[in-house]
Amino acid sequence: MNITSAKFEISNTDVAKCPAVCRHEYAFIGRSNVGKSSLINMLTGRKSLAMTSSKPGKTTLINHFLINDQWYIVDLPGYGYAQRSKEMQRQIKKIIEDYILERQQMTCLFVLVDSRHDPQKIDLEFMEWLGENSVPFAIVFTKLDKLSSAAAKKQTEKYRNTLLESWESLPPIFYTSSADMRGRNELLDYIEELNQL
Ligand code: GDP
Repeated sequence: MNITSAKFEISNTDVAKCPAVCRHEYAFIGRSNVGKSSLINMLTGRKSLAMTSSKPGKTTLINHFLINDQWYIVDLPGYGYAQRSKEMQRQIKKIIEDYILERQQMTCLFVLVDSRHDPQKIDLEFMEWLGENSVPFAIVFTKLDKLSSAAAKKQTEKYRNTLLESWESLPPIFYTSSADMRGRNELLDYIEELNQL
């Protein structure tokens, strides 16, 4: 799919204030610093549509971007940033959970995972929660350019095997790098497919 336009539409902390119009919506989430903003910029071909930052934990809002005047990319707050206060963590968890459970037009949630790290409890528990709530999701490995192809294979296999300890089958999995644009076509093709449904 070609991205011909990508426009920021609205930021907020309340799912009730998200755009009222019903379009397919694809949300992106992951631990702070996982590479979410970079991935959104890479997918849309815009340098700074989503705010990238070397300081983790910056985005605490639900950000809607209208793509090709047809569908939305939604940048959700990063989770699991320990330096946030307990109260802030609680508020962000609520924003995320309300959005995921209430937003009917969310067609797929892309859960980003840093390919360099071993499976993390917080991500595994989050995916478990998605499963319990029948939320459609896919896993996106990020920053693959930082690993050799052998290391990438080993790490991602380890991840899949860990998931298979508790899941009967795996969700769709994408292998990406915002640095070399790996996985861009695969992700956009998948979105295009879902847009037809
Ligand atoms: P976010 O907090 O999840 O939105 O993460 P960002 O997109 O702001 O990225 C966090 C840091 O990781 C930044 O320093 C990015 O330049 C870097 N980064 C993100 N994606 C990639 C990638 O695919 N490859 C490499 N080498 N660095 C990346």
